[in-house]
Amino acid sequence: MTVEMDKIVSLCKRRGIIFQNSEIYGGIGNTWDYGPIGVELKRNVKDAWWKSVVYERDDMEGLDAAILMNPTTWEASGHLESFTDPLVDCKKCKHRFKLDDINGDRCPDCGGELTEERSFNLMFKTFVGPVEDNASVTYLRPETAQGIFVNFLNVQKMMRRKIPFGIAQIGKSFRNEITPGNFTFRTREFEQMEIEYFVKPGTDEECYKRWVEERFNWYLDLGINKEHLRLRDHESNELAHYAKACVDVEYLFPMGWAELEGIANRGDFDLRQHSEHSGKDLCYFDEAAKDKYIPYVIEPSAGADRATLAFLIDAYREEKVKKEKRVVLAFKNCLAPIKAAVLPLLRNRPDIVETARSIAGDLRREFKAVYDDTASIGRLYRRQDEIGTPYCITVDVQSMDDHQATVRDRDSMQQVRIPIEGIKAYIKDCLAQEKLVEPAS
Ligand SMILES: [Zn+2]
Repeated sequence: MTVEMDKIVSLCKRRGIIFQNSEIYGGIGNTWDYGPIGVELKRNVKDAWWKSVVYERDDMEGLDAAILMNPTTWEASGHLESFTDPLVDCKKCKHRFKLDDINGDRCPDCGGELTEERSFNLMFKTFVGPVEDNASVTYLRPETAQGIFVNFLNVQKMMRRKIPFGIAQIGKSFRNEITPGNFTFRTREFEQMEIEYFVKPGTDEECYKRWVEERFNWYLDLGINKEHLRLRDHESNELAHYAKACVDVEYLFPMGWAELEGIANRGDFDLRQHSEHSGKDLCYFDEAAKDKYIPYVIEPSAGADRATLAFLIDAYREEKVKKEKRVVLAFKNCLAPIKAAVLPLLRNRPDIVETARSIAGDLRREFKAVYDDTASIGRLYRRQDEIGTPYCITVDVQSMDDHQATVRDRDSMQQVRIPIEGIKAYIKDCLAQEKLVEPAS
């Protein structure tokens, strides 16, 4: 059983993780802003992904393509024609519904009569340049993938890549969803972490299996409970007509199992479409084998916002400590928004404050560290526990004599005294090794 979403939403607001967008104006449907703590968390999620799929491999390149693209892209990709939802409107209350969400033929809100179904394209339309005519229409990209496909030859040739290799990209995408919801799970503006991996036809199935395994393990390695993660193969009626296979990595969210990432074997559909629509030959030529072909594509496509939400939910703990409730976000160190907080036991003692500030300043050069003296020590600990800070350093009266400070572990709440000049090295070691603070023997 995972935590209720309401608790996560309220913790996120209270601790500066996620705010409602343009809240002072009443917000705008399902649009959220990452606050000072949330921006660090999400950045850490994206960095962990980039590290694992770009830096730690020798067969991947990175890319950052623009959101606006030549509109022919969306003709070739099929989005203009078929990236649609069938919708119906209520004639009485004017509410709009996805046909899929309706049972029967009456409005679920007021029982009114419904209109005939119409297709509604999910792409956000916009205009390039000063004239709003048909010639200047383009779209906010509904996926980052197409920016990769249209750059396939550029990357392959300029980076002197041989098949198989892949291209990774993180970026914003936009879909005008009719029924968004569940906090940051489904939003109209969202960030994707996508890979297009190009392979020789015939080797695609093996490669697909490897990516499924690797992507599943990525979530486990970053701390998601195995019981909360599963793979779900798409039924043949869920598959896009060109896709050979697709599987979702699903997480057990408070509202039930839902998709974190989809891994698809897309065959040669994308590069073939772009070859045809652009008139450019996007074939790959294998010099050694004198072999020419359109590569097949394996696509692991993850949501950065969904992954961030899943890591948040999975890290959430409620404990009883001395009859008081303690809320902890037990992140892995690499995901923790703040790595260390330095807290003075007495904020009216200049020597203690100065020492604590100087420790924080020293740590800051290595990783995200903060100094905080805005409350009593008990409340300061609680605040850091609730945003998942793994290590708190406390400077007290005794520190002035013995030049040591206390390091407290978030999860075990164990404390150990460390010479002040050795604190940075100690914390760095703990961070790197996901180590618990242990009292000296
Ligand atoms: Zn109605």
